[in-house]
Amino acid sequence: MASPSPSLPLAGMLELRPLGQTGLMVSALGFGASPLGGVFGTVSEQDAIDSVREAFRLGINFFDTSPYYGGTLSEKMLGKALRALGVPRESFVISTKCGRYADGFDFSAERVTRSIDESLARLNLDYVDILHCHDIEFGSLDQVVNETIPALIKLKKAGKTRFIGITGLPLGIFTNVLDRIPPGSIDVVLSYCHYSINDTSLEDLLPYLKSKGIGIITASPLAMGLLTENGPPEWHPASAELKAACQAAASHCKSKGKNISKLALQYSVKNKDISTVLVGMNSVKQVEENVAAATEIGEEADQQLLQDVQDILKPVKDQSWPSGIQQS
Ligand code: NAD
Repeated sequence: MASPSPSLPLAGMLELRPLGQTGLMVSALGFGASPLGGVFGTVSEQDAIDSVREAFRLGINFFDTSPYYGGTLSEKMLGKALRALGVPRESFVISTKCGRYADGFDFSAERVTRSIDESLARLNLDYVDILHCHDIEFGSLDQVVNETIPALIKLKKAGKTRFIGITGLPLGIFTNVLDRIPPGSIDVVLSYCHYSINDTSLEDLLPYLKSKGIGIITASPLAMGLLTENGPPEWHPASAELKAACQAAASHCKSKGKNISKLALQYSVKNKDISTVLVGMNSVKQVEENVAAATEIGEEADQQLLQDVQDILKPVKDQSWPSGIQQS
C-alpha cells in the first residue's frame, strides 16, 4: 500500500525548542537513526522510509546518524528516506558524525575532512546541519582540541556543515574540551545515558553548558534498553545490580498496567533545558508510540508511578560504566 504524502508536519503535535544559539528549532523528540543501520536487527528499506515519513508527519524534524552505525548503512538508509519525503531541505535538521567508524577511531584532520564528503555523498545532501565528533573519549582530547575541532571549523566555513558538536559518555570530556577552546568553536553537545530516570548526572552540567551557549542534545532515554519491559541487549555494559534494579522497576510498572519505556521517555523530554531527546526508532509503530508518549506530557504523566520507580532505582542512582581511554 502506498504511504500517505508527508507534505507538511502536523502542526502543534510535538514541541519545537531552540538548539542553543544555532537559531535551529528542533523537535523535543528526535529520530535516532542507528537502528536504520541494522544495529538492533535488520530493517527493510521500506520500513526505514515509512518510519522516517511517519516521524516527519508527526512533527519530528531532527534526524541523527553516523557513518559508524551499521558501517555506513544508517546514513544511506536515512538519505534515501529523507529524499523520498520530497520536502524542502530546510524543513528538516540532520546531524551526522565523524571520527568513529566500523573499523575504529580516527580523529585526524585528514580523516574527518574526508569523512564529511563521504557522508554527504551517502546522504545525497550538499550540507549537514550538525557534524559531531563521535565519542571523543576514545581519542586523545588534546588531538580533538588542537587538530579535530580546527578541521571541523574549516568544514563549517566551507559550508559542509552549519554547526559543530561533540559526543561521548563520560561527562568530564565536555568540560575538558570546552574549557580549552575559544567560545563559539562548538555549538552543541550530544550526551547519552545521563538524563534518564536512573541517571540524571547531566543535570549538574546543564548550567555550565547553558552559560556557554551550547545546545544540549541527549540520547537513549530508555538507557539503551535498561528501561524497557524486554530488558537490555546482551552487550549492554551496565552492572548486574543496575540491570536487576531496572528490571524490578519495569516489573513494578507492568504490575500497575503501565509501560516503563513510556514513563522513561516522558521523563527525559520533560526537561526544557534539553533541546531534543534522541530515541532510536525503526518502525512506524515505535514512532507513533514515542510521539504519543512525548505529546501526552502534563496530561497523563503518572507522578506516583514515577516516584515508585525512582525509589526502586535509588540504590543504583547515577551508576554508569567505563567508556574510552584513560586521558592524561
Ligand atoms: P535507545 O535507548 O534510543 O534505544 C533504541 C532501541 O529501543 C531500539 O531497539 C528501538 O527499536 C527501541 N525502541 C524505540 N522505541 C521503542 C518503543 N516505543 N517500544 C519498544 N522499543 C522501542 O538507544 P539508541 O538507538 O542507541 O539511541 C538513540 C539515538 O541516539 C541513536 O540512534 C543515535 O542516533 C543517538 N546516540 C548517539 C550516541 C553518540 O553519539 N555517542 C550514543 C547513543 C545514542
